[in-house]
This record gives sequence, C-alpha cells and structure tokens, in this order.
Amino acid sequence: MTRKPPPHQITLDEAAAHLRLVASDGESELWQRGKAAYLGVAILPEYSPRLRRALETRRDASLAGRCVCGASVPGWPAPPGRYAVLAHAPTCDAGDQRLGPLLAAEQPAALSRN
Ligand SMILES: [Zn+2]
Repeated sequence: MTRKPPPHQITLDEAAAHLRLVASDGESELWQRGKAAYLGVAILPEYSPRLRRALETRRDASLAGRCVCGASVPGWPAPPGRYAVLAHAPTCDAGDQRLGPLLAAEQPAALSRN
C-alpha cells in the first residue's frame, strides 16, 4: 500500500529527469526537472503565443540553468536547498524587463474571465 502525503505537502520525485508539473493552483505552477524546481506564473491557454512562449522559456531556462538568450548560471546546478538567479539578456522575453510588461498587458483580461 502506497502512503500518500497530506494534501498540503508537495513532494519532488528525485528520479524525474524529464519536465514535470508538480502542482498548480491556476495562478502559479510548480515544475520540476531532475533536482531543480521552478515556481512561476501559470501558463494559461488564453495567453498570447508570445506570452506563453516567454513563460515557457523562463521556466525551461530556470530548470536548465541556461537560456536561449545566452544567459547562464555559473556553477549550475546550484547546491541543494539553494536558488540561483538567471540574468537574461535585455532583449529576452523571458527576462524581467520584458516579461513583466507582457504579463501586465494580458493578466487583466485573464482575470476578468471569472
Ligand atoms: Zn533569456
């Protein structure tokens, strides 16, 4: 018999080498690849292709320690229990400078769907 964790606990599968959605509350998502975890904005189907691609790029880059824009984290992977900051190029949609305005432009529409 498999023992299930209480609903408030989230477990990461240490053997998961592939991208895995661990949890989502509709506003944010927790993803895992290997021993790396990423908590970010939920990638909603009603978002524009550009915003979805930017969020996916940010997620994938955060889990890989490097981005298609050329940014990388020295010494990746970070030691257990530590987090790393990935400094995207100013022209990268996955970076704070561009992703913030993209989200701000589309989230009001997404929030009004309820
Ligand atoms: Zn980037």
